[in-house]
Amino acid sequence: MDLRSDKPYALLRHGLGYVYPSLRKNLQADVAIIGAGITGALVGWHLIQKGIQAVVIDRRHAGMGSTAASTSLLQYEIDTPLHKLIGLVGEKNAVLSYLLCRQSIYDLHDICKQLPTKPSFLLRPSFQFASYNNSVKDLEREYGLRKRAGFNLQLLSAPDIKQRFGFNKPAGLLSADGGLVEAYELTHALLKHGQDKGMLVYDNTMVTNIDYEGKGVVLQTEWGYTVEAKQLIIACGYESQQYLPKKIERLHSTYTIISEPLYATEFWYENALIWETANPYLYMRASPDQRIVVGGKDDLFYNPARRDANLPRKSKQLEHSFCRLFPHIPFRTDFAWAGTFASTRDGLPYIGSIPERPNTWFALGFGGNGITFSVIAAQLIRDMLSGKKNTNNQLFSFNR
Ligand SMILES: Cc1cc2nc3c(=O)[nH]c(=O)nc-3n(C[C@H](O)[C@H](O)[C@H](O)COP(=O)(O)OP(=O)(O)OC[C@H]3O[C@@H](n4cnc5c(N)ncnc54)[C@H](O)[C@@H]3O)c2cc1C
Repeated sequence: MDLRSDKPYALLRHGLGYVYPSLRKNLQADVAIIGAGITGALVGWHLIQKGIQAVVIDRRHAGMGSTAASTSLLQYEIDTPLHKLIGLVGEKNAVLSYLLCRQSIYDLHDICKQLPTKPSFLLRPSFQFASYNNSVKDLEREYGLRKRAGFNLQLLSAPDIKQRFGFNKPAGLLSADGGLVEAYELTHALLKHGQDKGMLVYDNTMVTNIDYEGKGVVLQTEWGYTVEAKQLIIACGYESQQYLPKKIERLHSTYTIISEPLYATEFWYENALIWETANPYLYMRASPDQRIVVGGKDDLFYNPARRDANLPRKSKQLEHSFCRLFPHIPFRTDFAWAGTFASTRDGLPYIGSIPERPNTWFALGFGGNGITFSVIAAQLIRDMLSGKKNTNNQLFSFNR
């Protein structure tokens, strides 16, 4: 698949990161992980902490799939609001999913502190405004449900919003729990630390076939070498669909711009992550290097040529939408990129196994909150493979 346009900002900023060899010998390992994006890196890192020997293999350079394009907002609010998710999966499961996403932000913060390269992690509030007057009722309902579930958030009125953010919107939810970490930088930090602890990483190595033999799996790679493993993790991002018997993803195209550096430390109230109730939604965040990232204007299609051809027009639209909210900020687009992303029916990820593929676990953090889902996937898989009971595994299973 063509997952993104050529020059996402994270790639320009951080360059190649660490490089890894391609696989040029046959290998045996406890666990093989296909995919060295943020998901594969997190899974491998969690396994190696438990002393489980893992080998991570990627057909591209590490982190160069969707991870390089990510705008890296960390929010527990998934694309499906809690009041709608309750209708789809029931109140208990919906609330638990939200709570796990919130916890994963803090878990990721802790992980970043443990990594020797110290990828920059910022805790930020998250602010969702009502795009239209007719979305206020839903937002109030959402507020009531989330408060009841114990979330720390405030319902802001139009004057509150004007005072804190400077723009006119009828209502909004300000949540205390959110964050920011660059997924691409973090991926390299995790892989490097994992490698220092004994994890094996090979990039530029495509897995061309998976054989299910005896008690484990045998991966065939493009150079003719094999990897034998007792367990397999599929962390191939949106390219994982090929390994599943049923279609679970809907593919979209999304667009992002980043401003020139603006030499200010606070652009709006606590530099909160900002998004809205409209679907598709506009979102924005300030970055540690004093730029502003704005994304959205999604299209419901997978067509990389059309997606990339749309980029100049979508960039102008994003800049225009930002300047309407913040006319006093002299935003000038410095870089723009486009990517593909996948959503699921209920907005939740798929984490678990299917009968057709024994000894195989899928870690598919589809949706706007892919990074927090990847943390949950890594924790669930670590627990399953280390024999620890984790009662949350049904929440994201394929037969939910
Ligand atoms: C523009 C954009 C903005 C986003 N913004 C956010 C955000 O703000 N917050 C958030 O949480 N999420 C966001 N996401 C989603 C998030 O970026 C993704 O969920 C995440 O990057 C997926 O990581 P991954 O490791 O699962 O997939 P990938 O990064 O795509 O990694 C999968 C890897 O598997 C490899 N692979 C596939 N098939 C094979 C094979 N056969 N053999 C070997 N290797 C293989 C690929 O080469 C790839 O590197 C955004 C996504 C996009 C595109």
